[in-house]
Amino acid sequence: MKILKMAKHDLDFFASVLPAFGEVYAPVQRGKGFVFDKPSAWSEVRMDYTRTILPPKKLLLPPRETTFSFDPDQGFTDNLAEASKPVVLFGVHPYDIYGLNILDRVYAEAKFPDPYYIARRRATVVIGIDFVPDDKHCAGSMNADFVDHGFDIFLSDIGDDYLVLVGTSRGDDIVVKSGCLMQPATEADFAEYKKRSRIRRDSYKTKLELGDLPEILEMEYNSKVWDDFGARCLSCSSCSMVCPTCYCFDVTDETELGNRAGRRIRSWDSCLLRTHALVAGGENFREERSSRVKFRFYHKQRGFVAEYGRPSCVGCGRCVEVCPAEINIITVIETIRGERDGISSSAPASA
Ligand code: SF4
Ligand code: SF4
Repeated sequence: MKILKMAKHDLDFFASVLPAFGEVYAPVQRGKGFVFDKPSAWSEVRMDYTRTILPPKKLLLPPRETTFSFDPDQGFTDNLAEASKPVVLFGVHPYDIYGLNILDRVYAEAKFPDPYYIARRRATVVIGIDFVPDDKHCAGSMNADFVDHGFDIFLSDIGDDYLVLVGTSRGDDIVVKSGCLMQPATEADFAEYKKRSRIRRDSYKTKLELGDLPEILEMEYNSKVWDDFGARCLSCSSCSMVCPTCYCFDVTDETELGNRAGRRIRSWDSCLLRTHALVAGGENFREERSSRVKFRFYHKQRGFVAEYGRPSCVGCGRCVEVCPAEINIITVIETIRGERDGISSSAPASA
């Protein structure tokens, strides 16, 4: 990996070369929140954002997309050309890049790779940037506050400059296109990077112990805490809709009346919704809200660990921000560990 540096006052010029690599999306403020959107001017871009409302997943796995259309006379036409349009995703925090790396495992490296996700991932330049954690981030505990792959360029604040990690040959092309903006980094730059990285690690207000969590979840499988969380959950699905690593989707065919032409639609789904596990004949494998809340956390913190060796939570804090019932990765882990008052653990669930 090549390590360079760039003066902060050259960022505007650096940004001016990005449209040559695709349509640029960056963090901008909309109302009280931040979103990845096309900035109308570079001055609109917020380098200091906390987290976006939706993760960058929305651009690689859109909330609703037509995968192909079909017609009795013309056969079917896939949407891969649309999915292959080049995009530059600027200003992605490391935990969200980690989220994309997790989606890669599910959608690109699985037994049945998904061509639409792969087309978008290949067509997307990812430019990462570091961040200052707030009280909702727990990316440090999830080992997701640093990434060594999954990006083309990564910018780290070292004072008047950014330390620039170049992760791919495409990132190298951007460096070349930006002319002589980048300089070799010095020993003093590395020392500043290490100092700031230590300060950031120490500044997390939320620290979660994950070491034996899969075993503790095993012990607490029948705990009453799941009933308590189930009683509070509104089944709104906000927690999974904003999560960078939730990846369930639903597929429906929309046909036009009369001529049997139509399109296949893929849209985000959530295991928190009552219909998620409803199958033909009316059987619902997770009818109770408590079982749906429990499933989400067991999948993230136990099932994914068993399959991929790490939890599928990256500690972005979005579920902490959106859940109206305070059911989130922090409250659940602290409760299940018996570290939070108000909800008992280890008591068996009522029938
Ligand atoms: S579970 Fe919550 S904190 Fe973890 S990645 Fe999903 S939204 Fe972020
Ligand atoms: S856990 Fe919270 S955000 Fe998720 S479905 Fe229940 S109430 Fe909604």
